[in-house]
Amino acid sequence: MKIENKALREAYALLEKNTPLGKTDCGLVCNAVCCTDECGDSMELFPYEKELFKGTEGFDITDGEVPLLRCSGRCERYKRPLACRIYPLFPLVDTDEDGNEHIRVIYDPRATAACPLCAKRTKLDRRFVRAVRRAGKYLLTDSESAAYLKKTSDYLKELIKLEVMLNG
Ligand code: SF4
Ligand code: SF4
Repeated sequence: MKIENKALREAYALLEKNTPLGKTDCGLVCNAVCCTDECGDSMELFPYEKELFKGTEGFDITDGEVPLLRCSGRCERYKRPLACRIYPLFPLVDTDEDGNEHIRVIYDPRATAACPLCAKRTKLDRRFVRAVRRAGKYLLTDSESAAYLKKTSDYLKELIKLEVMLNG
């Protein structure tokens, strides 16, 4: 898998081995529910990933405003897209009052329904959390990736507000 874009390549490398519970396979907690049909057909592709996965056996792409990837429910770890590598977290972009952008790692509200770690707000392996933050910082150095990250961050902030309103 040859990744041309530097920011994406760094993000992939950071999350090659780091996983939510460190040495413990979190798939054992939930029977790898995030790789099942219900979840595995809606992974958003980050910029430059469409080209990477096009024509790859075991993966189908649905085109749209954001391309979606569908997998067969099994994959070789080194071929996982970034959405799977950072799941169930997301590197949210915050802008401070001086206009500086910062990455804040959050549980992705889209993962709450499926992932027990997210639902219970389990404390995750700090190396994994750090890797997601650093991946976010790398992505911010690339204009297309940064635009995607910021747009998704705005959407997730709205989702979180809605969650708070509904749950009181
Ligand atoms: S749903 Fe959550 S706990 Fe289960 S395998 Fe995926 S990330 Fe791990
Ligand atoms: S690409 Fe791999 S890690 Fe991602 S949902 Fe499919 S089987 Fe799971």
